[in-house]
Amino acid sequence: MNMRRVIFVLLDGLSARSGQSCMGYLESLRETGRAFGGVVRCELPALSRPLYHCLITGKRPAESGLVHNTCWQAEPAQNCFHLACAQGRITAAAAYYWFRELVNVHPFAPERERVTADPALPIQHGLFYSSDAYPDAQVLLDAQSLLTAHAPDLLLVHSLGIDHAGHLHGHDSPGYRNAAREADMLLARHMPGWLEQGYQLMITSDHGMSADKLHNGNSPEEREVPVWLVGDAFRPDAPRAPEQVEWCGTLCEVMGIEAHGKAFCREVLR
Ligand SMILES: [Zn+2]
Repeated sequence: MNMRRVIFVLLDGLSARSGQSCMGYLESLRETGRAFGGVVRCELPALSRPLYHCLITGKRPAESGLVHNTCWQAEPAQNCFHLACAQGRITAAAAYYWFRELVNVHPFAPERERVTADPALPIQHGLFYSSDAYPDAQVLLDAQSLLTAHAPDLLLVHSLGIDHAGHLHGHDSPGYRNAAREADMLLARHMPGWLEQGYQLMITSDHGMSADKLHNGNSPEEREVPVWLVGDAFRPDAPRAPEQVEWCGTLCEVMGIEAHGKAFCREVLR
């Protein structure tokens, strides 16, 4: 199996419609056959914490029991960080502190746990932020410093700027769309270097956003999220995108993690 390295970029709260209309760099990769681009319906409820868990474990919220944002205890399930560590791979994350709680230790104490460096934890190297208004530009720099220092095999880059703008301004607003444009411009600065280093990039969102400045429900704006897959592991002309329940398994396949036991999307893989 090919032991590839993966960067998982989670653009929190980005709807498919805004992704397709505002992400000029990512769409340029799709248009020129350099990336796969597609859309999936997120699982329900369209909320962050249940869907973070779904993306990293392959378990639907209704199955895991993690069905709201104040819930952190789920049915025990291996996630992609556990699976990578079990095979001796290096893991890292620049992410909102909910990932630390879901994957490493609950609860989070920001005064002493912003920086994680512990090879015994599923996310071995972490820079966790705790403000919803933490700028995406800083998240990308946090990710870049983890990459430089640790050369992880699996790096999660989780930005919250688009979601934050959506809660302030709503889906159909310049504020929300411009947050998406800003995130795309940041990716255009960082991604070429990541690709040069041989990383496979898996980019998606947890959920979209409604015009009512909230998300949770079953409307297309809340549910339809974009997917971009960039790197030689992926087929740009694949007939469909990985569903959220296939994200963990597809990531494991790309990394060459054997016997992961998760559902995955064979169609997007070369
Ligand atoms: Zn949100």
